[in-house]
Amino acid sequence: MSTNRNTPTLYIVIPCYNEQEVLPITCKEFLAKINELVGLGKITDDSRILFVNDGSKDDTWNIICRLAEEDKHYLGISQSRNRGHQNAVLAGLMEAKDRCDITISIDCDGQDDINAMNDMVDAYLDGAEIVYGVRNKRDTDTFFKRFTAEAFYHLLDCMGVETVFNHADYRLMSSRVLQEFANFKEVNLFLRGMVPLVGFKSTSVYYARHERIAGESHYPLKKMLGLAFDGITSLSVKPIRMITSLGFVIALLSFIGIIWVMVGAIAGNTVHGWASTTCLLCFLSGVQLVSVGVIGEYIGKIYMEVKHRPRYIISEKTYDHNEDNTEQM
Ligand code: UDP
Ligand code: MG
Repeated sequence: MSTNRNTPTLYIVIPCYNEQEVLPITCKEFLAKINELVGLGKITDDSRILFVNDGSKDDTWNIICRLAEEDKHYLGISQSRNRGHQNAVLAGLMEAKDRCDITISIDCDGQDDINAMNDMVDAYLDGAEIVYGVRNKRDTDTFFKRFTAEAFYHLLDCMGVETVFNHADYRLMSSRVLQEFANFKEVNLFLRGMVPLVGFKSTSVYYARHERIAGESHYPLKKMLGLAFDGITSLSVKPIRMITSLGFVIALLSFIGIIWVMVGAIAGNTVHGWASTTCLLCFLSGVQLVSVGVIGEYIGKIYMEVKHRPRYIISEKTYDHNEDNTEQM
């Protein structure tokens, strides 16, 4: 599909897991937003709201089916079981990518300001292919949520995962970007870290985050830590490199230790056998950690290889715009 920069077709992709309390309220807001944008002439009337039911155990899927009958702008797909937020978003994006020009992924709980979509579409019309929704204040979050969430972004940054600070999964992606993104074949998903890897012209829009309209968060601290751990281990081999560095530091300290032990032994103020045992201990612990680090480096390389990510993505050519540009795996 060739992209239509002037009046694109928009798909709003919304993951839903046990959201029967929230969905009947927020679905109307999404529809109103689509109608508003159509009215403003920013998007076509072929634009849709695509709900992704993530194996909900409550009435969520029935609500989605009813909505789809009521208004042509509502569509729904359902995952065979609960696979988690990231997988649900990906399922929706992949479903949408051949049917529209742009997608906006957003949670269904009304926390992310839906009005930021106007700015996102404008940024696309101005030439951006990815527009990140960034929270500019977290006044409504508890101190604990704010502290842990910000620590989360700093931790990712220290560990070598490139993310947009305070951006969750509220973002606009063009179908162009999604076609390339489809070549990222990994199973462990951390969309926030993966999307920047695709490249292309990107920008951010800022919005205030609200409280959840109803229901409860599915992201308690335990899940957030899990997400951070997944993000780090699937996007960065920095932790392995830290083992190697630690190995070298310990090897150096051991070397100093060995000299100290030998000096002690020669001066004669040690118990017999202590010097040789300590020397061996120092030497071996250094050697072992360096070795583990080196083996880890290879495992890290293998890990990156098995992902089969595209090795290059071409964003522009001086000729023939509609041909597929990316290396096919
Ligand atoms: N969600 C999902 N699958 C899950 C957990 C959550 O699709 O296993 C959806 C959920 O319905 C919501 C979004 O992901 O639309 C974000 O979840 P939530 O609001 O609970 O997280 P928080 O905003 O508290 O981080
Ligand atoms: Mg939420």
